[in-house]
Amino acid sequence: MDFDDSPDEAEYRSRVRAALQQHADELLRLAPGQEAVDARLQEAEMRRTQRVLHDAGLVGVTWPREYGGQGGSLLEQAIVGQELARFRVPALINHIGMGMCGPTVIGHGSQDQRDRYLARLLRADDVWCQLFSEPASGSDLAALRTTAVRDGDDWVVNGQKVWTTLAHVSDYGILLTRTDPEKPKHAGLTMFVVDMHAPGVTVRPLRQMGGQSDFNEVFFDDVRIPDSERLGEPGEGWRVALTTLMNERVTIGGAGSAIGSPVEEFARHAKERLPELDADRQVLARQAVGRAVVAALGARYTGYRRLTVLSQGGIPGPEASAGKLAGTEAAHLMADAGVRLLGDDAVYAATADGDDRWQRTQSWLPGISIAGGTDQVLRNILGERVLGLPSEPRLDKTAPFSAGRSDGGTR
Ligand SMILES: Cc1cc2nc3c(=O)[nH]c(=O)nc-3n(C[C@H](O)[C@H](O)[C@H](O)COP(=O)(O)OP(=O)(O)OC[C@H]3O[C@@H](n4cnc5c(N)ncnc54)[C@H](O)[C@@H]3O)c2cc1C
Repeated sequence: MDFDDSPDEAEYRSRVRAALQQHADELLRLAPGQEAVDARLQEAEMRRTQRVLHDAGLVGVTWPREYGGQGGSLLEQAIVGQELARFRVPALINHIGMGMCGPTVIGHGSQDQRDRYLARLLRADDVWCQLFSEPASGSDLAALRTTAVRDGDDWVVNGQKVWTTLAHVSDYGILLTRTDPEKPKHAGLTMFVVDMHAPGVTVRPLRQMGGQSDFNEVFFDDVRIPDSERLGEPGEGWRVALTTLMNERVTIGGAGSAIGSPVEEFARHAKERLPELDADRQVLARQAVGRAVVAALGARYTGYRRLTVLSQGGIPGPEASAGKLAGTEAAHLMADAGVRLLGDDAVYAATADGDDRWQRTQSWLPGISIAGGTDQVLRNILGERVLGLPSEPRLDKTAPFSAGRSDGGTR
């Protein structure tokens, strides 16, 4: 297999690099050692960065032109992703909108909804979030309790969501609700677009152990949503949500890129640090580095395989779960090896040169094993839907939700 750029791809890559260079002064960029930015503090700069990149043709590369995209290929999208990372541009503020909400609106929204929302989403004129998880339904998402009750031309929503990334800066969200408790739990759900500024929507930040607050609790008290904001038919919410979840795993798992630090940067760091360790530590660190690099390259090539399938017209299937698992495993091994490489510095908040990327990566990684489907749930999906192993007995697929038989389903 040849992973080098073809002449056309190399030409496209150099155009992307030139565009980034041309707009360098207008873009928010990560400082050395910095892994992420805080949308709470730098919302305006993040919105501007996405707008500048969009106007330079580097956002929505694969999206149809009629919705503000570039009508390009997945390989072009992968090249843009690699070059943005190389140029140290942080994750775009609307990464959830582009990765999950937009594809759901394209797949299940009315023409009017697509016209109103998609181009603005790509320019970050509106930021979007995904309102699925609740305090008692994460893995078992279909057990959610937030209700939407029809009232004339509107639906009235009551309930609570949690872990909603970016809700604090969002203008819209895709919201999964229960509209018929008498149906089995998967059959009684309906999806909507909700205006995050509507009366009755309250957003409260949650603070993480790394100090930042990326996600939130969101409360709905008699929030009115017009029926025209429904995505899909009433009762079809689970089918609509599966579109979101499959795209989420491709987005998080990356198609052609790795979760966490790029392997080349990691290897460079390892080369610098290894000679500074004493002999015993060097042996352990060398083994950890070796394991991490093998896993990271494995995840990268799994991503390339997925990219090939997608670029040949395939749709994201349960295999996306394997990609996300491989990326998560590699990111954990890299972060562990990184901390081992730091030696004694690993126990302090930051190293002498102020580079605390590995400690911060460690504090951020547990979330990656949970977001978009936990490691355990993804292994269940692989066992049942890829390997064809027998599934667990599931009463929750037939009994009405109101009967309270919600025994451990998975996303
Ligand atoms: C960084 C981050 C960002 C997130 N962003 C969003 C967001 O924007 N919007 C949103 O809606 N949600 C978001 N979430 C929530 C996320 O989707 C849920 O946390 C996740 O689905 C797990 O649900 P839970 O937290 O309720 O854990 P639970 O489902 O309660 O799981 C607890 C433990 O039980 C295990 N488990 C559960 N069921 C099974 C099973 N059937 N078999 C084996 N083991 C099982 C799990 O693997 C886990 O170890 C985010 C989470 C994180 C960490």
